[in-house]
Amino acid sequence: MDGRTESLFAADGAAPDAYASVVVDIPARALSDPFAYAVAPALAGDIAVGCTVLVAFGHRPAIGYVVALADSIDELPGAEGLAGKRIRAIDAVLTEPVCSAYAGAVAYWMSREYVAPLAECLRLFLPPGGTPRLRHAADGSYELEPPAVPEVRERVVSLTPAAADYLPPARAVRQRQLMEALACGPVTTRELNLLYTDLSAAIRALEKRGVVEVRERRAWRGIDDQTTLSSARSSAPAALTAGQSAALGEIERAVDDGADDVILVDGVTGSGKTEVYLAAIEHVLAAGRTAIVLVPEISLTAQTVGRFRSRFGGAVAVFHSRLSAGERLDQWDMVRTGAARVVVGARSALFCPLSDLGLIVIDEEHEQSYKQGSSPRYHAREVAAQMAHLGGFPLVLGSATPSAEALHRCRVGEYLGQRWCRMEMPERAGAGRLPDVIVADLRREFAGGARSIFSRPLREALLEVAERREKAVLLHNRRGFAPFLMCRDCGCVPTCKHCSTALTYHERTHTLECHTCGATYRVQPYPAPGSACPKCGSRYLAKMGMGTQQVEDALIELMPPEAKVIRMDADSTRGKDAHKRLLEEFDAAESAVLLGTQMIAKGLDFPEVTLVGVVIADYALKMPDFRASERAFDLLEQVAGRAGRGERAGKVIIQTYLPDDPVIRAVAAHDRAIFTSHDDAERAEALYPPYVRLTNVVARGRDDARVRAYIGAVARAVMDEADVLGAGAGTGEEPVRLLGPTSCVIERAKDQYRHHFIIKSAPGLDISGALFRAVERVGAKPGVKLSVDVDAYDLM
Ligand code: ADP
Ligand code: ZN
Ligand code: ZN
Repeated sequence: MDGRTESLFAADGAAPDAYASVVVDIPARALSDPFAYAVAPALAGDIAVGCTVLVAFGHRPAIGYVVALADSIDELPGAEGLAGKRIRAIDAVLTEPVCSAYAGAVAYWMSREYVAPLAECLRLFLPPGGTPRLRHAADGSYELEPPAVPEVRERVVSLTPAAADYLPPARAVRQRQLMEALACGPVTTRELNLLYTDLSAAIRALEKRGVVEVRERRAWRGIDDQTTLSSARSSAPAALTAGQSAALGEIERAVDDGADDVILVDGVTGSGKTEVYLAAIEHVLAAGRTAIVLVPEISLTAQTVGRFRSRFGGAVAVFHSRLSAGERLDQWDMVRTGAARVVVGARSALFCPLSDLGLIVIDEEHEQSYKQGSSPRYHAREVAAQMAHLGGFPLVLGSATPSAEALHRCRVGEYLGQRWCRMEMPERAGAGRLPDVIVADLRREFAGGARSIFSRPLREALLEVAERREKAVLLHNRRGFAPFLMCRDCGCVPTCKHCSTALTYHERTHTLECHTCGATYRVQPYPAPGSACPKCGSRYLAKMGMGTQQVEDALIELMPPEAKVIRMDADSTRGKDAHKRLLEEFDAAESAVLLGTQMIAKGLDFPEVTLVGVVIADYALKMPDFRASERAFDLLEQVAGRAGRGERAGKVIIQTYLPDDPVIRAVAAHDRAIFTSHDDAERAEALYPPYVRLTNVVARGRDDARVRAYIGAVARAVMDEADVLGAGAGTGEEPVRLLGPTSCVIERAKDQYRHHFIIKSAPGLDISGALFRAVERVGAKPGVKLSVDVDAYDLM
């Protein structure tokens, strides 16, 4: 391309056939709307909503995506009042449609709701690595780059009808092997060559005779995750429980009526929620529609995926963060071409191109991983509710420990015009019973002189498990509590030079690591002779908190050799299939203890587990965050739910220094209300969600004063806008409250200063709109980056 961006529209004097709304993909443009372009007659046959196009934008060419088409300019959404003369024409249509009008509408809502660039939101809906890009050369010219990830083809060999009459000559061993291999159906050349060494000559010979045929087709990478886990196979139960039938009935009614209801399946662990999802999806598929199931990344295991694949076979596409670029593209295309009609995946699976979407399910609705940490900072639950609204289908949320937000909305019965209802499943399905929960008071153990990691009840229970040849799960949660060093003399905790984050201690490498910027520091903690406190020089710089390895050592010492100890944490699951392999090992063992971090708390379904132990519940309770209790409750309830899923009764032992905490009491009594009523009252009192919405606005940059001035300007602009909002609200309470601006808890990260303010706003208020206008009015400031996090979870 020569860089000339003169519009070609009407060059031949012909009037345009149509007009298009185009989202221009320029990353730097802050808060864009679609732009109107004309479609010249020559392109009219090729263009459709979702096409990638080349357009002139200002004085440069740009890639854009068509989100709407109309015959006349006045019918084009957002283009009112534009004179036909000023409109430029689309230069070229680059690809077939890569997203739908529906995707465009959802992206538009997201950009408004989360105050994010429209192109950035729309890009979520585009094929991974599969759209053309513009490369900017140093001389100012542009070049079109083809998609980065190519497709792969595979060759499939199959027998023809002529094979029935063909007998290979006695000496043609390879031909016989080939015909045997194909007897049960077509096989790819790749698999044939894996099974037997090179069969290509035999294939050619038989192809010539017309006995076999070779066809080329698109290969789908990313579907071969086989597992031996017994629980990954699942046939439908003979009959649903009463709770399951009621929940399913409610979902099916909403599906049939095209209602955008949000249905919360509030079922204890093991109550058969997954069964409800499976049956609801069957109903949706039978009606010729498609479904998305979101599960938290950490429970997106072979076991979960296996249950869906064993019910729906090859029609299931899977998305998770461990897919390679090629696998991701192929799974995407399986969906786009209709080869897959059910999608199971993490957060981002919401954006894959299912046509005729009829249901979205979000399992473990309360999980924080549904909130995206970078722009656009969306929450999958909220986006899915909006998708259900725009698409006219229900959203199903499932949890044993629903979020305060979901419970609140169900109590009210609606949220932003959508109906929210809760279906309870208080009992376990099948043979399982809820386990007994025992609280081991570590204060008393300590006072009694005990110094072991395991209290007496836990020690005895573990030994009983080994004796009875059963299995146990032992949780050692360290989320948000990484081991660190602390000076026993002055209490100083070493922090990063570039950030103000406390450094995490890594035993194996003897390093302190910063989890904000990745810096590492070599260190020799006490009792090594080289240790010295950076502040007072004392040599008692010692490790705090114990790692999973330490618990593992104690466990191996305690347990008899016939009980296998399997450790599952970030270190032991580093390899691609390590996670799956360890679970298979646990599944196959006669008697075993699975020791792990929070990654073992969720989703595992092993009927032989009769004991669940929690090494120390308190780290989870002691986080400086108003959601810490909710998360701790969820974690304990989930891990307790791993016990007693089969015929044999289960027992749970929780070790804690805080036995009176409402979270611990609620888990012990199987009575959620003990926790929720306490938590709800605290949130209402201190004005936290769901009673208000929290928005965190952060500015960062290398020049502290500049950053501070900027965040101050944005805060003032937001309050001006909010005054306008508030005037209409007319309630007694202040509808918008602004906290700050102040420096963030993490004051510096990657050598950048961070300042923020927090907005608490009444739930019905359009705070996003106020922010949108405020940010646009203040404009950008060089050297300062602004991030807006609506419905923020991370306030640090
Ligand atoms: P949840 O998702 O609520 O934790 P699951 O769907 O995993 O529960 O079900 C727990 C166990 O109960 C599974 O082994 C499942 O096969 C079994 N199950 C579910 N529904 C029924 C039913 N109606 N009858 C018998 N067993 C059931
Ligand atoms: Zn010190
Ligand atoms: Zn750092």
